[in-house]
Amino acid sequence: FIYLDYQATTPCDPRVVETMLPYFTDYFANSHSDHSFGQRANQAVETAREQVASLLGVLAQEIIFTSGATEANNIAIQGAVKYRLKQNHTARQVITVCTEHKSVLEVVNALAEWGIDVVTLPVNREGLVDHEALKEALQTPTLLVSIMAANNETSIIQPVNELAKIAHEYGAIFHCDMAQIIGKIDHLSLENIDLASLSGHKIYAPKGVGVLYVRRKPRVRLSPLFYGGYQERGIRSGTLPVPLIVGMGKACEIMCQEGKEEAQCLIYYKKLLIDGLKHNIVNIKINGSIKKSLPGSVNLHFPGVQALDILNRIPHLCLSTGSACTVSSLMPSYVLLAMGLSKEEALQSFRLSFGRMTTQAQVREVIDALSCAYHDIMAGR
Ligand code: PMP
Repeated sequence: FIYLDYQATTPCDPRVVETMLPYFTDYFANSHSDHSFGQRANQAVETAREQVASLLGVLAQEIIFTSGATEANNIAIQGAVKYRLKQNHTARQVITVCTEHKSVLEVVNALAEWGIDVVTLPVNREGLVDHEALKEALQTPTLLVSIMAANNETSIIQPVNELAKIAHEYGAIFHCDMAQIIGKIDHLSLENIDLASLSGHKIYAPKGVGVLYVRRKPRVRLSPLFYGGYQERGIRSGTLPVPLIVGMGKACEIMCQEGKEEAQCLIYYKKLLIDGLKHNIVNIKINGSIKKSLPGSVNLHFPGVQALDILNRIPHLCLSTGSACTVSSLMPSYVLLAMGLSKEEALQSFRLSFGRMTTQAQVREVIDALSCAYHDIMAGR
């Protein structure tokens, strides 16, 4: 089969697995134990923290390990709002965008229970947020703005640093879900970002580990969601999963060393794919802007045919019509609908993503398979 769903998850890089293995068996100690064995585990955690920080260009003390981006999003949003409410902050509004991942949208909606008003900003046909709309929403005092850096279905990249700057002008904290973008683009800056969420399994680290970046200067304060042994500065209590954290660190180190070159290769594969498909299927469309999207990912629209009909004809290609985390594949994507596609157009679309293990021969095979499937359906074969 050919795996084309790197936005849903990535395999663990064998180098990551190799680095993790001794921490399951040889160095299994609790990283908070005082004995030398524990200290060895602790050292490994701190090395991983440095490796993550180095990829992000931030301080190691700003890195909190979590179980994934879902947890990081929850801690960031609920934690920041809870803390600010406890400080008797008068603002009662949180702003987000309708195309966010469910682990942001559902959290923000749940804040209604705390008396928070939620503003969900629309996006344009390109999947981008209008800066003026954000400014207008910020006229009402706002606790927090949460906007993702790259979308998990369309791979559209938002100019989050600019949006964060606007949020700061109005005194709001800016949280960014960076699960899809980390390691994928060059010169990613967290300059104006107060809180950022990452996921291990999107960058060739294992599932079950993630990171929350919490800015130190000026310091962003969070209330914990659950209480315990005060690990991770009390923001995320619980015994640290040392092997997973070691894997996360190694994955970030590899991204630091190879990410740039990898991105160039993926950009080339994407161009090859789009050119090939456009040549074979003249009316094929791309949802969103190609330039403002992640290197190896694209959301394709095949006018006139159901995406599921295409996918059913090419079972050896591992593709999904939408986010693996949410919708049933029979439902049109809420992200595409928000970008102004009709229900029919959304059901004729699916995302495709290349990654580290993709080869040029696979890209060519994908072009052929998709083109054949499309023409067979159109010809009623
Ligand atoms: N945010 C985005 C943008 C994602 O793509 C994902 C994973 N689909 C998540 C959050 C959730 O990450 P995790 O699986 O690590 O909880």
